Amino acid sequence: MSLATKTDYEVVVGIEIHVQLKTASKMFCSCSTEVRGAAPNSNTCPVCLGLPGALPVINRRAVEHVLATGLAIGSAIPDVTRWDRKNYFYPDLPKGYQISQFDLPLCAGGTLPVESSDGPVVVQLRRAHLEEDTARLLHQDVPGGGRVSLVDYNRSGIPLMEIVTEPCIGSAEVARRYAEELRLLLLTIGASDAAMEDGQMRVEANVSLRPRGTEALGTRTEVKNMNSFRSVERAIAFEIERQTRALETNEKLVQETRGWDDTRGQTYTMRLKEESMDYRYFPEPDLPPLRTDAAMIGAIRGRMPELPAAKRIRYRTDYGLLDGLVADVGGDYFDSALRFDPPPDPKVAASLFSKIALRERNNVPNLLDIRPGAELALASNLRTSGAISSQNVEEVYAEHLRTGTPVNDIVAAKGLRQMNDSSELAAVIDKVIAANEAAAADVRAGKDQALKFLTGQVMKETRGQANAAVVAQLLGERLK
Ligand code: ADP
Ligand code: MG
Ligand code: ZN
Repeated sequence: MSLATKTDYEVVVGIEIHVQLKTASKMFCSCSTEVRGAAPNSNTCPVCLGLPGALPVINRRAVEHVLATGLAIGSAIPDVTRWDRKNYFYPDLPKGYQISQFDLPLCAGGTLPVESSDGPVVVQLRRAHLEEDTARLLHQDVPGGGRVSLVDYNRSGIPLMEIVTEPCIGSAEVARRYAEELRLLLLTIGASDAAMEDGQMRVEANVSLRPRGTEALGTRTEVKNMNSFRSVERAIAFEIERQTRALETNEKLVQETRGWDDTRGQTYTMRLKEESMDYRYFPEPDLPPLRTDAAMIGAIRGRMPELPAAKRIRYRTDYGLLDGLVADVGGDYFDSALRFDPPPDPKVAASLFSKIALRERNNVPNLLDIRPGAELALASNLRTSGAISSQNVEEVYAEHLRTGTPVNDIVAAKGLRQMNDSSELAAVIDKVIAANEAAAADVRAGKDQALKFLTGQVMKETRGQANAAVVAQLLGERLK
């Protein structure tokens, strides 16, 4: 098909993200949220088991996390919000309803700017609200045939925040960047650990197409089961392709929920979506309306750390650093390196950080929490002063990160301090010239190749400790 006959479609994506909030106890009871390693159904009580007569009590910390998120994304926070019951039956929902927020969420509106390969994009947010998680179902084969479903209520009642965007995201890449940026924000404010692989952050993508220039939203599919940022981007890209093909061949698209099969790289139909499920929302009679007061909001605002977007701008304007990675990962570590006296050249520090620290951190995830930033400053300063060769700086810094040994101790133990002093080098240079008369003659005849050779001989003689630039200069002066 030629391009001219194709309709030009615009991609419309809206994202819903559930994150597990970082609290010690559950949303409406005092059971522990630490489910890893806990025996099935051990973290339960009448409230999170949905037993009749049990009454919920609001977890203040969870409310504070949602408010902090709202402040960070610039949401409107109403004085009074409400809890609502979302009614449906499923074995993982013992009460027969989920306590959630319907028409009065804690946070309304907001924005999250993200960087994409097409430049900066502002993602418009619709809302963020608080709710409780369901239990976990495990479907298993039984020896001898058949299948059973087991239910573990440890997860029942764990606090969740749901964050919903407007249908405003125009590509799979921006959708991925949005999810990554939101995760970074949540980690920064401490609202969630947001580990996707552990189900602490669950991304659902609503995807539709419409002819470019038109307003009305097209038929959408909702994609679930994406367990990594890469899957989010791949799944949406697949849906865009699939829907484009369907529209071009006049195949009817149906509104449905689709799962993502990461191995096959495809989405598949999970269930058709009848118009809109009727959850019979109504105000939760067991909980009073939730009031937010100025003192509470003010305290949360006062505790707010520097947010990722501000940090990137600061790194860019104050230090001229374009590498977003430095701001995004280990920003505290990097900042403490910059505060060292004497302060390192930020570009040198950033280059060591990006090349060495990020690599070493792949092996020890909390590495940048346990190593002092001062050592990055020391390593950077060694390079800037030329005290040791740049290759040796990298090796020393990497060894420090791996072992914890201070940079200066490694330099001393290995005798790596670079020889810059010309009188110290002169003797070695004389020796090398005497041993390589032919090469020396070539240098006198203006052959640069021979100069490189002699420099290499001096480096070898000094076990790499000579400053190569100084050696080349001294050789040149001696022979030309
Ligand atoms: P639901 O009740 O199924 O969750 P909502 O109307 O609340 O549906 O929307 C959920 C998400 O889907 C929001 O992020 C919204 O922006 C997005 N969305 C809604 N309609 C479309 C559409 N036609 N195309 C893309 N995204 C959509
Ligand atoms: Mg939905
Ligand atoms: Zn409980």
